[in-house]
Amino acid sequence: MASAVDPVIIIGAGMAGLACATWLHRAGRPVLLLEAADGVGGRVRTDLTPDGFRLDRGFQILLNNYPEARRMFDYGALKLKSYRSGAIIRLPDGQETTLENPLHAPMMAFAALASPIGTAKDKALIMKLAAQLAGRPPEQLLGRTGATTTLAYLREFGWSEQIITNFFQPFFGGVYLDRELGTASNFFEFVFQQFMQGAATVPALGMQQLPEQLAARLPAAAIRLHTPVAAITEGGRRVHLANGEPLSATAVVLATDGPAAARLLGADLPAPAHPVARLTTCTYFATAGAAPSHGQRLLHLNARPGALVHNVAFPAEISPAVAPAGQGLVSVSTHGEHGLSEDELTDRLRAELAAWFGPVATMWRHLRTYRIEQALPIYGPGQPVQQELRLSDTLFRCGDWVSYPSLNAALGTGRQVAEMLVG
Ligand SMILES: Cc1cc2nc3c(=O)[nH]c(=O)nc-3n(C[C@H](O)[C@H](O)[C@H](O)COP(=O)(O)OP(=O)(O)OC[C@H]3O[C@@H](n4cnc5c(N)ncnc54)[C@H](O)[C@@H]3O)c2cc1C
Repeated sequence: MASAVDPVIIIGAGMAGLACATWLHRAGRPVLLLEAADGVGGRVRTDLTPDGFRLDRGFQILLNNYPEARRMFDYGALKLKSYRSGAIIRLPDGQETTLENPLHAPMMAFAALASPIGTAKDKALIMKLAAQLAGRPPEQLLGRTGATTTLAYLREFGWSEQIITNFFQPFFGGVYLDRELGTASNFFEFVFQQFMQGAATVPALGMQQLPEQLAARLPAAAIRLHTPVAAITEGGRRVHLANGEPLSATAVVLATDGPAAARLLGADLPAPAHPVARLTTCTYFATAGAAPSHGQRLLHLNARPGALVHNVAFPAEISPAVAPAGQGLVSVSTHGEHGLSEDELTDRLRAELAAWFGPVATMWRHLRTYRIEQALPIYGPGQPVQQELRLSDTLFRCGDWVSYPSLNAALGTGRQVAEMLVG
């Protein structure tokens, strides 16, 4: 039997669960976060290696203009470090070109007019869309009806196949983990606006500082790690831990990833549940001395067809604190299933990186490989921008899988559930 002092139990201490707990705690409601893993953050985790590298589990950034992130985080305390807005792109013929955000670096963008990335019209269209989306409320962009795929949207807007192959596929394919650009166009408009108007940032000590900042605002007893939940009963008034312990709640918030939610609720979960997600692999290498990134603080994208390497970043150039003094760090992302063992993948990556950055790449020391099966939920045209968060008066859900694949969605759905509970 639930009593008046029973907490709201939140299952999952990823960004959605933590956001929900933070807002509930601020409103004076008792909360208990139950997390299966050994730390908070869910898909936003950073490992500290014995030799002093801080490795995010997968290449990830925080767009500092995300409305929910601005509501939630103390950016100063996170010591956010920014990538420069734009990218260095390796074109299909092996040449490199730099694309700068025209809103951040108008003079450089002017220089880029001569780059072979696309036609002059293509470059003008970037400014046109930036102007069209400027100042529009993000939720209006996300909520747009009649979405198509991003690829269809780009073609309809007038962009050439050249810039789609050279820029949009490597850049937004990296954001969505979907090089085919089948992701819904309402999400494209949102992400395009966020990149144009904000910065791609990382906390100085790695992405896990984001969830850690939220966790630090909660009483220590409000978070239980190593605590997998096995079942929810009585419509959300009772939770059963995997160790058999039962807990009473005034309400339960399901803040797991999609597949875990489907396992916990099964047939009780209303369709559509989109438990399908995209896979990515992130391989880290250490360099002796500075990495050959030209000191530009830009992401490197690969437009070469058939390449395994999708994008390359040099995180220690953005935040020196993520590598020991005198060493550099290389983060290499590949997308989709490649059927290679870790060793085979590492060898193939070294060969591609050597052709790109020179023979020095064959000397880079492999640090770690992260294979993330359920990295991002698939979000295609016709999917609602947000599914129902209230399943009953005592059972709620939040997370990117009930909305769109972004930190902003995880934080936003967590906040909305808290608001529903506070009334
Ligand atoms: C490699 C990668 C790159 C990304 N890049 C970006 C990016 O650049 N920008 C961006 O905005 N977003 C990015 N994302 C997406 C972003 O990380 C997610 O949208 C967000 O973290 C999802 O948070 P969540 O709380 O919804 O889910 P999760 O982070 O999946 O949290 C769910 C939590 O529930 C726990 N759990 C599951 N089952 C149980 C159970 N039975 N009992 C107890 N606990 C349980 C899990 O352990 C986990 O901690 C990226 C994701 C990945 C993986």
